[in-house]
Amino acid sequence: MKERTLLLIKPDAIQRGLTGEILARFERKGFKIIGLKMLHVSKELSKEHYAHLVDKPFYHDLEKFITNQPIVAAVVEGKEAVEVTRLIVGPTNASKAPGGTIRGDFSNSTSRNVIHASDSKETAEKEIKRFFKPNELFEYKLNETFLYASDE
Ligand code: UDP
Ligand code: MG
Repeated sequence: MKERTLLLIKPDAIQRGLTGEILARFERKGFKIIGLKMLHVSKELSKEHYAHLVDKPFYHDLEKFITNQPIVAAVVEGKEAVEVTRLIVGPTNASKAPGGTIRGDFSNSTSRNVIHASDSKETAEKEIKRFFKPNELFEYKLNETFLYASDE
């Protein structure tokens, strides 16, 4: 059923001019963008967002990378958004990501892998709150007749 998830277009994608192309893939799939902004990630926000990785040897590089240049954060809404966006994004190691996925098409790196997507419904709820205030999320109607059958 209808879910929301968080996407972060990482600094490497912004620097390479891929922002529009990446967002377009989610729009074309039928997801509705309900929140969108550019921001700088602080060191504190990086430590919170990547709490599961702060003890890893690569964390220092990850923090430097994600805090050094702006990112674009988006919330998308649609059917099974959490699982389906992860499929569109592809696996963490972009070298092994299949063609047709965002990471597979645009990256050959585990660290500079162009995009983040929440990995579970629980994570998505927490991550959306981490990056967006309630009044930064927008409710609006799309005619979904051509996207889903009424019982989906
Ligand atoms: N990362 C890294 N080296 C690694 C594993 C992860 O630099 O060996 C970075 C990479 O940018 C990745 C992020 O840490 O996207 C978060 O890692 P996670 O395991 O949560 O992967 P994801 O959910 O992004 O696929
Ligand atoms: Mg993750």
